[in-house]
Amino acid sequence: MVIIMKPHAPKEEILVLKHRLEKENVQVNVSEGQDYCVLGLIGDTSKIETTKIQANVYVEDVHKVQQNYKLANRLFHPDNSVVNIDGRKVGGNELAIIAGPCSVESEEQIVEIAKDVKKSGAKFLRGGAFKPRTSPYSFQGLRTEGLELLKIARQETGLPIVTEIMSANMIEKFVEDVDVIQVGARNMQNFELLKELGKTKKPILLKRGLSATIEELLMSAEYIMSEGNENVILCERGIRTFENYTRNTLDLSAIPAIKKLSHLPIIVDPSHAAGLWWMVEPLAKAAVAVGADGLIIEVHNDPQNALCDGQQSITPNRFDNLMGDLNKLVESGIRQVYSTANV
Ligand code: PEP
Ligand code: MN
Repeated sequence: MVIIMKPHAPKEEILVLKHRLEKENVQVNVSEGQDYCVLGLIGDTSKIETTKIQANVYVEDVHKVQQNYKLANRLFHPDNSVVNIDGRKVGGNELAIIAGPCSVESEEQIVEIAKDVKKSGAKFLRGGAFKPRTSPYSFQGLRTEGLELLKIARQETGLPIVTEIMSANMIEKFVEDVDVIQVGARNMQNFELLKELGKTKKPILLKRGLSATIEELLMSAEYIMSEGNENVILCERGIRTFENYTRNTLDLSAIPAIKKLSHLPIIVDPSHAAGLWWMVEPLAKAAVAVGADGLIIEVHNDPQNALCDGQQSITPNRFDNLMGDLNKLVESGIRQVYSTANV
């Protein structure tokens, strides 16, 4: 951390601040220039609150050199993390593809889609049982019945299930029933939920909040990890911008940025990013090209009658073609691969 003092800040005030900071177990180097005096802090500054330093009337500016997240930081864990879900890996060399409907609607629907996406090469089944809808009058999901139907689809296909949790009081049930617990964009900063999920060992799919920065996403991962659960998979799902042609704006630059900052695997959700079914395929390919570890894609066997997000769901047939193209893209070697050597 670097602290720039105001021009002509009294020497005694600089010393008072220096001594205060030294009590936080850091070394403080004072460099005096012609007009400005700069304090350079060396050591672990993670517990020092910059806002308190900024409140000092003699301080001009504060710059953090270190990031606030430690466990999610690549600096302290140079190798890419791989999350293992019953032998299926997210973050390894292979693409991890999660596919399925926005919501579980019936046994026939979820089992049929699960069989279809499995045939095309998906490694996980998605399906919302508890749905975070903007309107309380929209379909809210089949809730616990939805979890039961997902379990049937898993039994029929062997695909591990990925589904969203909305409340900490469902954690026990989710730990028992599902393979990957999804934290949706709207709950990315539900810190109490994150802390409770951190006490489990379940893989967590943490989606980026609608208006969250990359650092805020990594801080949310840190909440989970700081409680002991290191099985975190990040997900870029589009963010709110001034552009309203698409539902959100897919932030593809988040992939290389996160790969540089963190060792955690990151996947992309082109369905919620675009909100338009015909954009899912090109965005999915782009995400793989820039080095995403996987994708989560909404697939529905009857998008026009889907109870949720039909407009952004692709049919099993289109999904099958997309999987063929993605495999070709991976084989071509064009896909960006990240390691400590290149980030
Ligand atoms: C979802 O994946 O079903 C979902 C609601 O996504 P998000 O939280 O990204 O909006
Ligand atoms: Mn959806």
